[in-house]
Amino acid sequence: MSTYRGRFAPSPTGELHFGSLVAAVGSYLQARARQGIWLVRMEDIDPPREQTGAADSILRTLECYGFEWDQSVLYQSTRSQAYQAALEQLRFQKQVYPCACSRSEIQAVRDKLAGFTDALDIYPGTCRKGLPDGRPARSWRVRAHDRHIDFIDRVQGNIIADRQQPGDDFVVYRADGYYAYQLAVTVDDAWQDITEIVRGADLLATTPRQILLQQYLQLAQPGYAHLPVAINPQGQKLSKQTGATPVSCQQVSETLYAALAFLGHTVPGELTGAPQQEIWSWAIDNWQLSAVPETASS
Ligand code: GLU
Repeated sequence: MSTYRGRFAPSPTGELHFGSLVAAVGSYLQARARQGIWLVRMEDIDPPREQTGAADSILRTLECYGFEWDQSVLYQSTRSQAYQAALEQLRFQKQVYPCACSRSEIQAVRDKLAGFTDALDIYPGTCRKGLPDGRPARSWRVRAHDRHIDFIDRVQGNIIADRQQPGDDFVVYRADGYYAYQLAVTVDDAWQDITEIVRGADLLATTPRQILLQQYLQLAQPGYAHLPVAINPQGQKLSKQTGATPVSCQQVSETLYAALAFLGHTVPGELTGAPQQEIWSWAIDNWQLSAVPETASS
């Protein structure tokens, strides 16, 4: 029996659009082609960004596209205790520290550094040696270590992240009282025994942070395959912010063909108009990760 376990982990910030459908299709086929398990996890841990009804709408759309998940959906909003335990462990191991900085304070330092460094996504390290006098903690940050993190991505190739610096100290517990994506995703991928993470390459840059957390929390490191990111004619990533239209349950076959073609798998002409199940069984039989391009071709 296969021990492969994959997952699709949407955030309910809007309806399913073509970019997220591609991630669902890629992760599903990679699991099914290995007779593995495929799970859906709803990453509903960021209420300020969520949209009412989006979680149900995403699940309904997945259903009308014929996806079948092997266990009930895991909602991250039910997992706070596990994230808290992980944060406690990191605190105990002194791998996180409290941070008093507000966004505007961090931005002010970045503005000063502009022109001297390209790393403008950095944290200036203000609270690394302790909270400034009289300032309360707002968030908790991971203390990045100074080793390289590298991994082989099965689509994007060998990825080497630079030495981790104080500038890479990232937030795991947010000033608004929510656990950060990096912590929740790492804890849940391990808890659900995910063996390979297949998702969009827009998340490639977050992977070294998740690997660092796996190391700190002594969790197994899964495999990675980051799929090309769907873009609109203006070259922007499809997302709610760039006005991506939701995928509809009206034209399932056509949209599925388009998602498969985007992933380097062109459905043969004789399957035009075939029932959904036949398209899926063709896709499962013919799925090859090596046929998936690194980037979108247009
Ligand atoms: N919830 C994340 C998103 O929708 C994806 C998380 C993941 O696949 O690691 O962008």
